[in-house]
Amino acid sequence: MRKIRTRFAPSPTGFLHIGGIRTALYNYLLAKKYNGDFILRIEDTDQNRFVPEAQDYIVNTLKWLGIEPNEGVCFGEGDFGPYIQSQRKSIYEKYAELLVEKGFAYYAFDTDKELEEMHVRLSKSNVTTPQYNYAVRNFMKNSLVLPKSEVESRIANGEPYVIRFKINQGEVVRFKDIIRGWIKVDTSTLDDKVLLKSDKMASYHLASVVDDYLMKISHIIRGEEWLPSAPLHVLLYRAFGWEGEMPKFVHLPLLLKPNGKGKLSKRDTLDEGLTIFPFSFFDKNSNKEITGFREKGFLREAILNAISLLGWSPGSNRELFSLDELINIFSLDRLQKSGSKFNIKKFEWFNHQHIINTPNSELFKYLKEYSNENRDKLNKVCDLVKERVYFTTDLYDNAKYFFKRPENFDKANLSEDNIKFSIGWIENFMSLIKDKPLEFECLHDFLKNLLEKDNLKFVDIMPTFRLIIFGKISGPDVIKSIIILGIDEVYERINNFKNYIL
Ligand code: GLU
Repeated sequence: MRKIRTRFAPSPTGFLHIGGIRTALYNYLLAKKYNGDFILRIEDTDQNRFVPEAQDYIVNTLKWLGIEPNEGVCFGEGDFGPYIQSQRKSIYEKYAELLVEKGFAYYAFDTDKELEEMHVRLSKSNVTTPQYNYAVRNFMKNSLVLPKSEVESRIANGEPYVIRFKINQGEVVRFKDIIRGWIKVDTSTLDDKVLLKSDKMASYHLASVVDDYLMKISHIIRGEEWLPSAPLHVLLYRAFGWEGEMPKFVHLPLLLKPNGKGKLSKRDTLDEGLTIFPFSFFDKNSNKEITGFREKGFLREAILNAISLLGWSPGSNRELFSLDELINIFSLDRLQKSGSKFNIKKFEWFNHQHIINTPNSELFKYLKEYSNENRDKLNKVCDLVKERVYFTTDLYDNAKYFFKRPENFDKANLSEDNIKFSIGWIENFMSLIKDKPLEFECLHDFLKNLLEKDNLKFVDIMPTFRLIIFGKISGPDVIKSIIILGIDEVYERINNFKNYIL
């Protein structure tokens, strides 16, 4: 069997978000499942749209998520480098010339103005999508039309030209996509795409096909937006005589906005405040800081798990998976055809579940200055608070009051009367449990019975109790908190609170 070699081939034209992460993840999972190679290739042939910080952002994202390529840019050079396309310019030029030689491509000398005129002319004659194709090329300035001697002299004189791929009319390109099955495209609908630009840099199409071939890529897993390019790529493989080694195609369904209307994009972050980027950054276009998953308090395991299910199904109702488990069960035949809606609430739910499943010792690092406190106490605090938090950032906010007394009190809408009455009741309760063993069941039953006896409900007293302990009316279970803090500390906090409000 052919060695599985997948590639993540982003263009550094912007900051990577979950759409790209999903592509990287599926490529990673397939490669790891079959002990293959996962490659990072940077496709920067479009220098006009180049964003300098984008490459580091991609590399750091893959590192943070732990889906690291074993070959490629910043991840160790294999035998197939360089892995940045702008450094491979001369390779592509050679292959473009080869296609001209074989009669599959041609030189085109048309200026921008002439191309523009062609567009205007075709639009006027009601051509809906004017394009440089089999019908149009005969009226343009290219080596299929001009005499050989003129072509040679134009080139010798240093006149700028591009190399275009010659697409024949009325043929059918048939190829298989693993998700979509057999696809047939009439070549008359395709245009003669530029393979080599006038600065001798390859276009995306040429660079991508040449690199996938030279880098021995076995599977191309990429977004659905590249599906229309696939017929051209297949024709390129054929023209080069590489069809036998053509990678398998997998075009992933679109990631949709939460309402299902359209593709998820940066705008959804700006308009709806959705988190879709791995790390925070300042967006120069909108002049806004965009918050990333990491800064928001998402665990990488949760992000990977949530993203894995956006377009793939494990074949059961189970939803929670570690990265290793995903590697084990991933399979291309359960990739879905229809678009997946992004649901931030679901991401938060995954984060909550993964926080609960994370060993406490790993969560300690989120407790900042308290992470070196007594281990036993840290464990108890983590056990208690992790059940309630959805973000790692909230771990600290919930845990800090087990290590320091609150200094401010947010009474919210509690009435003075309720607070006064509750303090008296709480003091009585504390004096009654003073000599009891600090055990949850026993104290909890005692509290419940005492409330019942006094015809009270939890909600009558607990907000004030929490206000005393945590400085706010919500928080972890009161009895469990008393057990961790100890009776004396709770007394201290009661006095502290009384001093504050009196
Ligand atoms: N460079 C393309 C992108 O930015 C990738 C296309 C491909 O995977 O072939 O999405």
